[in-house]
This record gives sequence, structure tokens and C-alpha cells, in this order.
Amino acid sequence: MTGSNPAQPHDCHRCGETIEPGDVYGALDLLDADGDLQVMLCRTCSAALRDFLD
Ligand SMILES: [Zn+2]
Repeated sequence: MTGSNPAQPHDCHRCGETIEPGDVYGALDLLDADGDLQVMLCRTCSAALRDFLD
């Protein structure tokens, strides 16, 4: 799980919340039918998914 800052606002992949530049966010590497897919998640969702994965 990385935690740098996005260069521009980005919607959370899970809940759609806008992640503003400077906000802490989570980036998560997922696998889908097409292969690797990196998505950006707000801190709430990244914490929730981390708990799930643990
Ligand atoms: Zn979210």
C-alpha cells in the first residue's frame, strides 16, 4: 500500500468520494479479467480493504 499524493482530484474507486490533491489516499493493485489494474481509494476504503485482506 503506497501513500503519496495524487496530482489532481480523483474519484475513489470504491465509494466515489473525491480525493483532493494533498489528501492521503491508498493505491491498490487488483487483478481483473484484463490483468493488473491499479485503483485509487480514499483512506476510509483503503483501510476497510486492508482489514478485509488481513
Ligand atoms: Zn472510498
